[in-house]
Amino acid sequence: MEAILFDFGGTLDTNGIHWSEKFWDLYELFGITVSKCQYEEAYRYSEKLIAERTKPGDDMWTMISNQIQFQFNYLRDSDYYKPNDLPVKDMISYCRWDILKQINRSKRVLQLLKSDYRLGLVSNFTGNLKAVVECLSIDEYFDVIADSHILNIPKPDPRIFMYALKKLKAAPENVFMIGDSYDRDIQPAKSIGCSTIWLDVKSWKTNESTTSADFIIRDLKEVPGIIFNKEKKHEQNTHVT
Ligand SMILES: [Mg+2]
Repeated sequence: MEAILFDFGGTLDTNGIHWSEKFWDLYELFGITVSKCQYEEAYRYSEKLIAERTKPGDDMWTMISNQIQFQFNYLRDSDYYKPNDLPVKDMISYCRWDILKQINRSKRVLQLLKSDYRLGLVSNFTGNLKAVVECLSIDEYFDVIADSHILNIPKPDPRIFMYALKKLKAAPENVFMIGDSYDRDIQPAKSIGCSTIWLDVKSWKTNESTTSADFIIRDLKEVPGIIFNKEKKHEQNTHVT
């Protein structure tokens, strides 16, 4: 193995929980009494606005704050939810605490891998992925940061993976891709010859087939073990032959 690629959203920041589910948990925690359907409309609306309005320098906290605000604007304008006092600030603080807790766990995984492999990020993002990883102090781990908006190549287009591999000077057969989306991370990476680890915890949708996943995990912390084991087996096989 030469290099390891990671997805960002839903993978390094939430350990496999899709952001749609993450925000819904937040609503339940803060007693925001809307139905799941109403919430999902608001979530889709906020995703659309985030894609349109995010600026290159926006960090993680600006994005979270905008996203919550856009959702509440939608719920208010749709007459779904309109109390005078919304716990926006407290919700943002909670998200911050929760994300930093997970990022610290992800850092330990990146740290373990960094000494032996080149690492890359491949993400469907909004042109500000660099600012986001800088504010979380994980930029130093990555040799390439592929932001779909900047490259104008969204996953599942395999060319975004090929771009990252070229930057890392790595052949696909020597690369692992790790991500929480079977369709966007696992299938396209497998299609160009990478090995794949699917972080399957709480997905936005269910998948009928999972044959493109070489490994399925429930927690990012399983990643180093899988990669080191695969290397050990490879070494043993080359000794035998
Ligand atoms: Mg993801």
